[in-house]
Amino acid sequence: MASITLADLGKIYPGGARAVGGVNIDIADGEFIVLVGPSGCGKSTLLRMVAGLESITEGEVRIGDRVVNKVEPADRDIAMVFQNYALYPHMSVRQNLAYGLKNRGTPRAEIDRRVNEAAEILQIGQFLDRKPRALSGGQRQRVAMGRAIVREPAAFLFDEPLSNLDAKLRVAMRLEIKELQKRLRTTSLYVTHDQLEAMTLADRLVVLNGGRVEQIGTPLEVYRRP
Ligand code: ADP
Ligand code: ADP
Repeated sequence: MASITLADLGKIYPGGARAVGGVNIDIADGEFIVLVGPSGCGKSTLLRMVAGLESITEGEVRIGDRVVNKVEPADRDIAMVFQNYALYPHMSVRQNLAYGLKNRGTPRAEIDRRVNEAAEILQIGQFLDRKPRALSGGQRQRVAMGRAIVREPAAFLFDEPLSNLDAKLRVAMRLEIKELQKRLRTTSLYVTHDQLEAMTLADRLVVLNGGRVEQIGTPLEVYRRP
């Protein structure tokens, strides 16, 4: 686990459009931060800068005490969960879970241990030999989370992970992510536009508007009527 610091973080896209500016957030070890705000406020840009999928044009991202502005995604020790699952269709669930570790040269026994542990946590043990197309949406999303969990990263980044699921599944998965959070206590940055997800999951909420932090606090502090 690790703390994450965003220091005067900003993004100006080529062509001059400012997407994010002057963002300062200290995320503690094990803290679950939810980023909310209207469409176009910069949530995705901010997350992608932390992930290393988007260049940083102003300020710093630090993971632990390491400045990671120019560190490759693979070397940042973070794992991202996407809304479109990003599973390999030709591989079984087990192979999907093991693939990244295999590429990194993780020993076979360690891969098996982590895959079985993730399968147990996510209750997908009975699907390990299936291909993604033979899974429901909720099961696919669990596998996508499993791919992040097996990395045992210092932090998780979630980019609207439940937005492709129907309403009933979203409720179930929201509670599962809550359980996951209690069990693993991995520092997390979670983007959503679902207020219930934000209320349930957040230790602290960050409200972005026009690329800037408008409000930051516990769900009670942020949603309390003035
Ligand atoms: P959100 O995730 O909150 O919807 P985004 O981070 O996607 O917001 O976008 C923030 C702003 O940056 C928007 O004005 C958007 O149009 C702009 N933007 C996003 N991606 C790019 C890009 N690749 N090039 C230029 N502008 C972009
Ligand atoms: P896998 O996608 O199964 O992990 P690799 O380890 O070969 O396979 O990943 C290819 C690249 O994508 C690497 O740079 C890796 O760090 C990055 N990557 C893979 N999965 C994630 C993830 N969940 N979050 C962030 N980066 C990832």
